[in-house]
Amino acid sequence: MNQRYLVALDQGTTSSRAIVFSLEGEVIAADARTFAQHYPQPGWVEHDPKDILSTQVEALRVAVRKAGIDPREIAAIGITNQRETTLLWDRDTGECLHPAIVWQCRRTAPLVDRLKGEGAGDAIRRKTGLVPDAYFSGTKLQWLLDHLGVRSRAEKGELCFGTVDSFLCWHLVQGHPHVTDATNAGRTMLFNLHTQAWDEELLRMMHIPPQVLPRVLDTAGQVGMLRADILGVPVPVAALAGDQHAALFGQACYEEGQAKNTYGTGCFMLMNMGVHFRLSASNLLTTMAWRLKGQPTYALEGSVFVAGAAIQWLRDELKIIRTSNESEALARSVPDSGGVYFVPAFTGLGAPHWDMYARGTLVGLTRGTGAAHIARAALEAIAFQSDELLQAMARDVGRQPDVMRVDGGATRNNLLMQMQADLSAIVVQRPRTAETTALGAALLAGMGVGLFDSPLAAQSHWRAESEFQPLMEEEDRRRALRGWRRAVERAKGWALEENGEG
Ligand code: ADP
Repeated sequence: MNQRYLVALDQGTTSSRAIVFSLEGEVIAADARTFAQHYPQPGWVEHDPKDILSTQVEALRVAVRKAGIDPREIAAIGITNQRETTLLWDRDTGECLHPAIVWQCRRTAPLVDRLKGEGAGDAIRRKTGLVPDAYFSGTKLQWLLDHLGVRSRAEKGELCFGTVDSFLCWHLVQGHPHVTDATNAGRTMLFNLHTQAWDEELLRMMHIPPQVLPRVLDTAGQVGMLRADILGVPVPVAALAGDQHAALFGQACYEEGQAKNTYGTGCFMLMNMGVHFRLSASNLLTTMAWRLKGQPTYALEGSVFVAGAAIQWLRDELKIIRTSNESEALARSVPDSGGVYFVPAFTGLGAPHWDMYARGTLVGLTRGTGAAHIARAALEAIAFQSDELLQAMARDVGRQPDVMRVDGGATRNNLLMQMQADLSAIVVQRPRTAETTALGAALLAGMGVGLFDSPLAAQSHWRAESEFQPLMEEEDRRRALRGWRRAVERAKGWALEENGEG
């Protein structure tokens, strides 16, 4: 039978999705299943592993049914996933010993503080490219082994640790392979990006027995065959990639210096750094872009904590818009923000400022300021914050790219896209396929079964839907950026002073 389709499983934080693509990268059919979020204590976030599994299988079956295809026509399946979320299961039964600890969960912040206190921060930074944080899987696994009292079982090889890609493979692939890929391994704080192997020193620091760890595979390549009972026939599973890495691939950012930005609740920007590991001078993360045929490609990663969430705030708290979409029309009803700057530092500021005491600030208000100016300032804030990441990356690599590729829910906003082009003096390209994460996983799976032999062969699948050219006068741009910097200074350290600690 002709193999004419690639399928992506996109296991996200709030939903499991499956998308059937043609070999040309067109979406044929998709399905998404949401599942419950559990918050057992303030700052703690968990998922039920059974929910992850059942929603993912259901989404796959329904998407294939909707596509009306014979599963034998599927050339390969690629898996992309929420990163860093940590699971621990019994190697014999597959039973999880605890709910999945979700990447957002802050329960291991004290363990991270202790690690830093013991001087581990430098080794973590140098070896993993990460900045020590409770987000990453290492201390989550440490916590599970301590809390459940199962370290000796782990040492005997009776338990498996995995991120969501690992967990899905163990359960969905014939023979229960205990595997992960280099992009996911790179988010554990246990994986040495230089040697491309689990790092003994880091394992010792976090008291992790190596027997519990999965084997680290290339991002594209044969993982195994999907269990035949799921779609009626076995299908090759041929790629594993963390979601942001898959998106970078789906955006065809294959060359050094190419960057993509995802505009959702927050923003995630990744820039391809080529084959040379480099640490950022602005404390951005260094991470895997992907590993193909044993060859690592690295990326710089930065995130904006509050992006689309600022628009949600206009909608839910200020109630000056009814839908996120309305932000565009409201902002367009005035020619500019009237000198208003909005720094939505609700939870502090990330790169390049790294100030957890910063708080949200509205400055430049006058008697004439109205809702439209504030809406405009909120959209500009998304563009300004993304620009700060882009500038930090540009400093690290020595040049600003000419083009940035974008995806995510907020890229529907044409005004925001134009603001980004203007404020960053960059061409912003929005692709025809909004599903860049899934497309990336599907294309990687295509590479994994040899349909494409290099990323460049997959490049033809990327097409721009719209392009936004920078139109702003340089002097106006500089003035706007200066204004933003002054506003950020006003936001910094606010919570610190409030507590009288400043
Ligand atoms: P996530 O994957 O983080 O849930 P999405 O990619 O679905 O996010 O994007 C949703 C976010 O984008 C929300 O924060 C929403 O407020 C914002 N958003 C959606 N549409 C628009 C729009 N037209 N203009 C500005 N922001 C928008």
